[in-house]
Amino acid sequence: MQWLAHGFHGEMKYMATHGTRRARPAELVPGTVSVITARMDYLPRGTPLDDWQAVEFDRLSRPGEAIVSVYARGRDYHKVMRARLARLAERIAEEVGPFGHRAFTDSAPVLEAELASRSGQGWRGKHTLVLDRSAGSMFFLGEIYVDMALPESEPVTAHCGSCSACIDVCPTKAIVAPYRLDARRCISYLTIEHGGPIPLELRPMMGNRIYGCDDCQLICPWNKFAKKSALPDFDAREGLTGQSLAALFAWSEEEFLRFTEGSPIRRIGHERWLRNIAVALGNALRAGESGAAEALATRASDPSELVREHVAWALAQRPETPNAS
Ligand code: SF4
Ligand code: SF4
Repeated sequence: MQWLAHGFHGEMKYMATHGTRRARPAELVPGTVSVITARMDYLPRGTPLDDWQAVEFDRLSRPGEAIVSVYARGRDYHKVMRARLARLAERIAEEVGPFGHRAFTDSAPVLEAELASRSGQGWRGKHTLVLDRSAGSMFFLGEIYVDMALPESEPVTAHCGSCSACIDVCPTKAIVAPYRLDARRCISYLTIEHGGPIPLELRPMMGNRIYGCDDCQLICPWNKFAKKSALPDFDAREGLTGQSLAALFAWSEEEFLRFTEGSPIRRIGHERWLRNIAVALGNALRAGESGAAEALATRASDPSELVREHVAWALAQRPETPNAS
């Protein structure tokens, strides 16, 4: 409630509208007595586990390359997790008989990270995500609200200690204090949840991140223990990793819809996609990336005012050439 009172949720009004239903499971699903929490590792199967954090950080040094957050490179986790939770509930019903239940994954007013940490899936890191000593933080969370009393699992102890790497690395200083995130400054929020123009002062800090941001997780020492998914669903799709900003900026709306079919990226729509890439191209232009200005010029007269404004901002990032005289 304090976090909401500070306005840290930005435009995510749905976080405020449900009041205590978010914190009290039985108010959301009457009859709920226990909550089964689950987590599912999501690093794509092809991830080089020895140095995957360095491989991902390296992308930041190539300003013409588009960075999509690791979790969003494959199939939409909502679909995968929900289907697996439904199967888990069926398996439990085979053992104990029919029972009332409802499964969630990032889809309803549920305090997922808090439920996960209280039930021992990990502790809340200073970046506010849940992490565990055996798996880092590269996993999705899911819950099944059930109408039967189950024995409680214990929380695990926290192991952030004196580390503050996630706070220090955050490019927009969105982690305003340990365990406190101002979503309005977070690149994940700005590129996915936020609908309008991206605040001018934050655009240069976004670098080449066009959908989400992983920096506070990449720097976390516990993520050297992050695990690959056992499923092919989260394998990186062709054309989304290591792709050039210019190539993704050239996608028509029809191509955007086709290439993001079944992907979480589709939810933001083509206009926000172009807005995000325009910012990244502006940052690439400032860094001297060849081809950035040409790519931007192709959408200088885009029908969307939002896109046109971001393209104009981006083109103005061209470094000044020294006066020949
Ligand atoms: S996701 Fe990126 S912008 Fe958001 S808190 Fe983490 S490092 Fe900062
Ligand atoms: S980077 Fe450090 S402070 Fe942040 S979550 Fe990881 S261990 Fe905790």
